Amino acid sequence: AGRRKKVADVIGELEQTLATPTPLLRGIADAMVEEMERGLRADPHAHAPLKMLISYVDNLPTGDEHGLFYALDLGGTNFRVLRVQLAGKEKRAVQQYEEVPIPPHLMVGTSTELFDFIAAELERFVETEGDDFHLPEGRHRELGFTFSFPVHQTSISSGTLVKWTKGFCINGTVGEDVVAELSSAMERQGLDMKVTALVNDTVGTLAGGIYADNDVVAAVILGTGTNAAYVEHVDAIPKWKGPLPRSGNMVINMEWGNFKSDKLPRSDYDIALDFESLNPGEQMYEKMISGMYLGEVVRRILLRLAHDASLFGDVVPPKLEKLFVLRTPDMSAMHHDTSHDLKHLGAKLKDILGVADTSLEARYITLHVCDKVAERGARLAAAGIYGILKKLGRDRAPSHGSPKQRTVVAIDGGLYEHYKKFSSRVEATLAELLGEAAASSVVVKMANDGSGIGAALLAASHSQYN
Ligand code: ADP
Ligand code: MG
Repeated sequence: AGRRKKVADVIGELEQTLATPTPLLRGIADAMVEEMERGLRADPHAHAPLKMLISYVDNLPTGDEHGLFYALDLGGTNFRVLRVQLAGKEKRAVQQYEEVPIPPHLMVGTSTELFDFIAAELERFVETEGDDFHLPEGRHRELGFTFSFPVHQTSISSGTLVKWTKGFCINGTVGEDVVAELSSAMERQGLDMKVTALVNDTVGTLAGGIYADNDVVAAVILGTGTNAAYVEHVDAIPKWKGPLPRSGNMVINMEWGNFKSDKLPRSDYDIALDFESLNPGEQMYEKMISGMYLGEVVRRILLRLAHDASLFGDVVPPKLEKLFVLRTPDMSAMHHDTSHDLKHLGAKLKDILGVADTSLEARYITLHVCDKVAERGARLAAAGIYGILKKLGRDRAPSHGSPKQRTVVAIDGGLYEHYKKFSSRVEATLAELLGEAAASSVVVKMANDGSGIGAALLAASHSQYN
């Protein structure tokens, strides 16, 4: 009975610290808007949490792009290569792609090793180019490089790495031009290819999203990490000192994973996770939301329950002590178990933690913990999206008599795509925050691998042959 009470105490406390009541989310959305404005004003030395990076993309794809283009996507866990034959609006595009997991040792190795690996994979892929693809005589192949880390762009096709995030930690790349690094690796490989666009995955997703649907105004990534980009008016970007783009717009890569606010419901588990991470003090919002971390938050809570309330019996399962053993896809599999005795969840616990017999109570509590952690992440992500819509003035129903304006947010990323209980909560919470009238004109759209085609489109619109 004492044990039961301890479980109830830990869970009670957990529910309080992870709670995201709607008024709190509204406050978080307002804080997001304030930080967006601060980041758009900031000089590069001010420590605004939102970098609000200028993408140099001031014109989004029209659909008229033509020709053969390559794209390469270096994200968190996978690395993708893509080729596409663009053929204008009517014929749309023929595309082929390949996906390769990034060998973990390369994420913490040297810059040269990482870029050599990428160039070699790309070269292999180029070798398989078939008859559906046509490169006009005398031209070099061109590439859009999707690089899902914060980059300080110096032009559409160059930029220096601000910092590594997610599981990457490579010495000597910060401050370097990532296009130069990739280009030298391609040269070492003997691959003739020119990078004409360097884009963040959010910006690629936005470009790919608009190509598919004109009403896309923002793109959000919910994968290993999380981030967002949107179309901003240049007038609203005091820090932009360049020429006024003809469109009057500039795509901003928010780097929202680094958002922080006193309003974020941080628990002791989050504080410890951050402290023991590769990048303490950074990416606070990302650490509460994204696929790299959700399972790890759950693990920390289960460990506490095992210690303080013998959740898995008298001994704490040693494997449960290991950082990151519980991956978000496993969390998601457990969370989606609908069997009456939670046998799939039990099998996962056995698999991951090595505990052969879990009590039904322990399995229900594990399910509940997954639910609370996923719910918090999804609701916080929705608050961020709501913040962007507020910044754009698209959070209200059109006033009486004015035309109805459709607003689309493109979302990509493995977390959103595969974790249904997560994605459905993002959508429900956004609808709740918007209210019925405004929600009826806002659409959230899964943009499956939109960033690849987006990067290829941007490579095309910035081609040296235009
Ligand atoms: P990346 O963000 O690395 O560019 P993805 O968008 O493909 O790549 O996202 C991969 C991430 O999505 C994984 O790291 C994992 O956290 C999450 N993920 C993948 N599958 C699932 C799943 N079934 N349930 C929950 N999360 C998943
Ligand atoms: Mg990605």
